[in-house]
Amino acid sequence: MHHGVARPAEIKEACGVCGGWAEGSPIAYLTCFALYALQHRGQESAGIAVARGGETGSGIWLRRDSGLVAEVFPDLGELRNRPGSLAVGHVRYGYGREGKDPENAQPLLLRYRHGELAVAHNGHLLNGAALREELEEQGAIFQTGTDSELLAHLIARQGDAAVEEALAAVAPRLQGAFAFILTDGRKVVGLRDRHGFRPLSLAALGDSGFYLASETCAFDAIGAGFIREVVPGEMVILDDAGLRSRQVLERAGTSLCLFEYIYFARPDSNLQGRNVHLARRELGRRLAREHPADADIVTGVPDSSIAAASGFAEQAGLPYEMALVKNRYIGRTFIQPTRRMREEGVDLKLNAVQKIVEGKRVVIVDDSIVRGTTSLKLVRMMRRAGAREVHLRISSPPVIASCYYGIDTPDSRELLASSRTPAEIAGFLHADSIGYLSLAGTIKAVGLPEAQLCRACFTGRYPVACGGHHA
Ligand code: 5GP
Ligand code: MG
Repeated sequence: MHHGVARPAEIKEACGVCGGWAEGSPIAYLTCFALYALQHRGQESAGIAVARGGETGSGIWLRRDSGLVAEVFPDLGELRNRPGSLAVGHVRYGYGREGKDPENAQPLLLRYRHGELAVAHNGHLLNGAALREELEEQGAIFQTGTDSELLAHLIARQGDAAVEEALAAVAPRLQGAFAFILTDGRKVVGLRDRHGFRPLSLAALGDSGFYLASETCAFDAIGAGFIREVVPGEMVILDDAGLRSRQVLERAGTSLCLFEYIYFARPDSNLQGRNVHLARRELGRRLAREHPADADIVTGVPDSSIAAASGFAEQAGLPYEMALVKNRYIGRTFIQPTRRMREEGVDLKLNAVQKIVEGKRVVIVDDSIVRGTTSLKLVRMMRRAGAREVHLRISSPPVIASCYYGIDTPDSRELLASSRTPAEIAGFLHADSIGYLSLAGTIKAVGLPEAQLCRACFTGRYPVACGGHHA
């Protein structure tokens, strides 16, 4: 692996996927809109695969590259005129050097004896490394470190020319979290793992088309009508015959990622019928009841904790103030402050409004603490702006364990709460007090039965044992 190809174990993906079939509509153009709506799920790369569909199949057109959707697809007119009945799209949240490697951008296109395959994936295969080793021993050559390429190889090695039969045959070999959308140029196939860790929903598009996406906000962006979520373990097939569904994996009971509600999903999306914004506001209300603060004002950290902060303020009967302003134009550029700037709490991305916080006892509500980098910065920034007291309130429980199902959490040693009590954390962050929402409160706020949510990052108990490289 000296030639810059990513090692599979280093790659985790919390991406966005979409794709569908709709004859007579500009499907490539619509898929670009859907990707814009899913951009928050990944800013490292974007890609769209398009094909005409039908039994003859005319080859798959593909564009994928590093960068934002707007950077990879600057010419919307070109997409609008691109002929096709089906498309598959992907935005990637990779991190580290591999995450930025354009080679790892998706959808991934593979040619094999039965034709072509374009594959997009959200999630993380627990046995990816083992499957890859097995295939390499049989002579497979991998060009990327993605689970998408792994799936494409597995499908290609099945004797069956029909992609849905080949996928149904290999699906039981995949362990872990996945939401795949793929095409062979003739139809679009979606598959969700048997636990349903990552979200995937289905909508109607146009007169007779259908569309799949990680989040329902993508449907709003293209005028598609939500039908239902893809059932864990279900395969859906979209083509000129309409929609077909097969339960290809035995359903294990839903374990939807709780962190989707807390941080990852967009507030206008609904997951399992619950609106994300409303769930976050309820997280904030419960946080105020569990950990009230003697304070003057409440503020959120743009953008992800505004909903929770407004719920906190409402419940506490305190004014919500916009005490932190976010610069929207920095994007993915990583600008390292000097040590002195860091120590003084100077930051380009966020700024405290001095006239609002001066002399005040401030409650900062954030959605989560992972490494603690953000909180440390926020407390310093508030004090520098003249806050008299700074009280941290976190609208989720302490993150104590790494995620193996597709969320970007570091090794547990780097998690601030993995080896510290809340009191120790408050000391470390120089906060006057800290309060984390309890797990029970978090689950009540979301409003789903506890058993239907994956809570592993807060409990260290995993719905699927993680082996291989992660053990
Ligand atoms: P920390 O700075 O403690 O490592 O991370 C917590 C902060 O990052 C919070 O403000 C939260 O909104 C945000 N956050 C939580 N999870 C993620 C994630 O998976 N990716 C990114 N980029 N930010 C996250
Ligand atoms: Mg944040």
